[in-house]
Amino acid sequence: MSPASSIQVSNPNPLKTEGRPSHWVDEEGTAFKNPWKSWREHDWRDQLYIVFKHSKQCPTAPENISELIPARKPTWTGKSTDELKLKAMWMGHASFFVELPARSCIVDSTSTPSRGARILFDPLFSERCSPIQWAGFKRITPPACQVEDLPEIDVVVISHDHYDHLDEGTIAKLAALPRPPQFFAPLGNLTILKSFGVPEDNCHILDWWESRRVEVLVSGTDKSSEPVSIAFDLTCTPGQHNVGRNFTDRFKHAKSLWSGWVAREVLPESQSNAAKTVYFAGDTGYRAVLDGQDENQVPVCEAFQQIGNKFGSIDLAMLPIGAYLPQRYMSPVHCSPKESALVFKDIRAKYGIGMHWGTFVLTTEPIMDPPKKLKEACEEVGIKEGSFVCTDIGQMMFYD
Ligand SMILES: [Zn+2]
Repeated sequence: MSPASSIQVSNPNPLKTEGRPSHWVDEEGTAFKNPWKSWREHDWRDQLYIVFKHSKQCPTAPENISELIPARKPTWTGKSTDELKLKAMWMGHASFFVELPARSCIVDSTSTPSRGARILFDPLFSERCSPIQWAGFKRITPPACQVEDLPEIDVVVISHDHYDHLDEGTIAKLAALPRPPQFFAPLGNLTILKSFGVPEDNCHILDWWESRRVEVLVSGTDKSSEPVSIAFDLTCTPGQHNVGRNFTDRFKHAKSLWSGWVAREVLPESQSNAAKTVYFAGDTGYRAVLDGQDENQVPVCEAFQQIGNKFGSIDLAMLPIGAYLPQRYMSPVHCSPKESALVFKDIRAKYGIGMHWGTFVLTTEPIMDPPKKLKEACEEVGIKEGSFVCTDIGQMMFYD
């Protein structure tokens, strides 16, 4: 079997929709909007602030940042008993490595897969998140690793086209691997992925609520046996955000879509209750709060309760907790730690890891505030201590 054929992507549950979805601006689905009352478009005052003033208000990283946010050298495997656990690693900013448990999706499989399905979310290992690598936002902490240090990756999932989530350097390297992964992104992102060198056959471009089944053939623990099939379903989910890669994009309708993603293990029918589910939020806001407004009185984004209702429960949620101040400008597009804790509850998550902090200084809150405020918020909204945490960069977390 050729290496390229060892990943199959299919569509066993096509989405049935009637009429134009509420987030489409046109009939063709080539321009997009946030369809909720919880959204507020940046007005001219916001645009002026963001373009001319914002970056001057952002803090600089303290000298001891590497002690405050330690980076570990990743180890990809745990003890042998960990192979049946769900694994997740924050790699800096919004980048995550996830490995689903090493379990076959075939009823009568006699051999055990040597590993689980591996997913990278919004991988970004470059020094800067900007159109050019000699200017623009520069990392204050290192990435967990580089592409060449990774184990074999099956799927790369992209949430949207902002530079801090879709990185040309990283994507180009992943696409050039001898056994390239399959790439998933929301509508409107095919051209950009192809321009980064991803073959069209490896691109899977989905609308909100669409899903695909990914089946991977991996070797068994007993090397003499047949390859073993592992599988998961990947669903593109709504979120409140926007897109754009250059200055003029601010003033036009979004030509590509933004999203979160849910990956759920596919197991034989008799074991389907044990299937692990992870949710990656990408970038999202929860509500839009103006100066002087009571944040508890404004509408919240309905998408998260819908995600909770659809999937029943989420074993692990990867949620953004940084880039939330000033609230007037940032609340429509980014969650504060408190809002992230509310999302955690809306989606019915069991465990969570905070992301979108401690890597690039994008906004005005103190750099070490997100984890501190997350802890306070969890206590306030009644999330059990230790369930929704921040980790070191490159720290592998295991979930039963
Ligand atoms: Zn973004």
